[in-house]
Amino acid sequence: MSKHPFILKLGAFLHQSPGYSREFPFEHAKFQFSDEFSVKDLKGTVVVTRSQQGILVQGNFNGELELDCVRCLKEYNYSLAWDFDELYFFNKRDASKEDLILPDNAQIDIKRIILEEALLVIPYSPTCKEGCEGLCQVCGTDLNFGDCGHDELPPQEGTDEEEHSPFAGLKDLLGE
Ligand SMILES: [Zn+2]
Ligand SMILES: [Zn+2]
Repeated sequence: MSKHPFILKLGAFLHQSPGYSREFPFEHAKFQFSDEFSVKDLKGTVVVTRSQQGILVQGNFNGELELDCVRCLKEYNYSLAWDFDELYFFNKRDASKEDLILPDNAQIDIKRIILEEALLVIPYSPTCKEGCEGLCQVCGTDLNFGDCGHDELPPQEGTDEEEHSPFAGLKDLLGE
């Protein structure tokens, strides 16, 4: 696989009239965006349109992520879909500070945009399924596969707790 699979060479667009548009398809069985972030079955289409002021890049992507469920801690597949719109201005004068400018060689690498927009739509607290029962906080049993009989929450701070405290032995030494 090419090291920079998301580079678009847009020189040809400069000679077209506004409204000219082309589609660029992308497909990767697995793409590693960074050390921690990879997407399986990454598919996407980028529609590039020449406008009066610049080149509009509209992406539409989807793929599978491996996420860890916050309740049962199991890894599961999550289908992510995301899109983005970016205008690369021809001329700095038309653009504000945050706007993107088309480089002189008319080549852009949209990898960072694809990644940034994907990160925005990843769930903050992913769960493997709706209503995942999670793990018993006492014994760690996966409650999706049955009830271990423990209460939902361990006792907060009670007299019972002291017997199990790792410092219980220390107290004896202190002669309490
Ligand atoms: Zn779960
Ligand atoms: Zn339990």
